[in-house]
Amino acid sequence: MPLSSGHPLAVIALGGNALLQRGERGSFDEQYRNVRRIMSQVADVIVNGQRLLITHGNGPQIGATLIRHELAGQTVPVFPLYACGAETQGFLGYMIQQSLESELAKRGDDTPVVTLVTEVVVDRSDPAFKNPTKPIGPFYTESQAHRLSMERKELVLKEDSGRGYRRLVPSPDPKSIQEVQAIRALVDKGVVAIACGGGGIPILQDNGNLVGVDAVIDKDLTAERLATSLKASTLAIMTDVDGVFLNYARDDQHFLSHVGSQDLARYAGEGHFASGSMGPKVEAVLRFLRNGGRRAVIGYLETLKDVLNGKAGTQITN
Ligand code: ADP
Ligand code: MG
Repeated sequence: MPLSSGHPLAVIALGGNALLQRGERGSFDEQYRNVRRIMSQVADVIVNGQRLLITHGNGPQIGATLIRHELAGQTVPVFPLYACGAETQGFLGYMIQQSLESELAKRGDDTPVVTLVTEVVVDRSDPAFKNPTKPIGPFYTESQAHRLSMERKELVLKEDSGRGYRRLVPSPDPKSIQEVQAIRALVDKGVVAIACGGGGIPILQDNGNLVGVDAVIDKDLTAERLATSLKASTLAIMTDVDGVFLNYARDDQHFLSHVGSQDLARYAGEGHFASGSMGPKVEAVLRFLRNGGRRAVIGYLETLKDVLNGKAGTQITN
């Protein structure tokens, strides 16, 4: 049965890396199997009376989509990055939606599920546009990189730690979700929406006219925008590690099972969280709690039920 707006809402963010297991090449079937296994847990949570909104990353997936476009560029025109973002929202949304529909049906539950192509507004004056930092897509040799930068003057290409050249794109802060009212209407009616995949398709507002922009928005920061705008009670960021560690990957690493936002902010200031991975998750959680959220959790995707029950992951409160 669809749950109405009286029930507390949890926004769950699924890591794009976590949807691909270590060592997998990323075939459609592999990714579908992973998604299906996760959706079996999500269905249990829904049947138990939890209202959910799902968002997800797309790092490895958009990398592969860009490679498909670049390699086929002699035969069919290459699409802009933001259109590739829309492609990944579509196929990942399809996997998540269909898996969840099947798992709910197995449990005799008729909660409706739908994926939304979602745009996220960014600011033209965001400093990220002057300093692209996010590596994306295929690696190129020096001569390929040289040829490409002649053909497409707008691209920024940079050597990436001895592995070849890679495109760098800006990663601006998400400001607002263009379709937030449509999402709210669905969520209030008890529909499980899948929205803002890959951090959302970045757009600029130009006197009411909307245009896509070549950038990548961090999906954890967009998850915070979703959770805050919908007044969710919980933001759950699901990834491929058990949660937040101090001194991560060192002999003296220490797992945080419960932490207050002030302590977490202090640890962030001390440099415990890497900028491209755990850093934005911690930043998203701190923003959510600052903006009125009650509870945030960061945990291992495969233990979703326990993470939501407070039995696993890093539980963060004010
Ligand atoms: P996702 O696709 O879920 O966003 P990321 O790779 O961006 O995945 O982030 C998860 C990764 O963050 C972990 O696999 C881990 O290697 C890394 N990480 C960096 N610092 C920490 C830390 N302090 N505690 C836990 N994980 C960390
Ligand atoms: Mg990430």
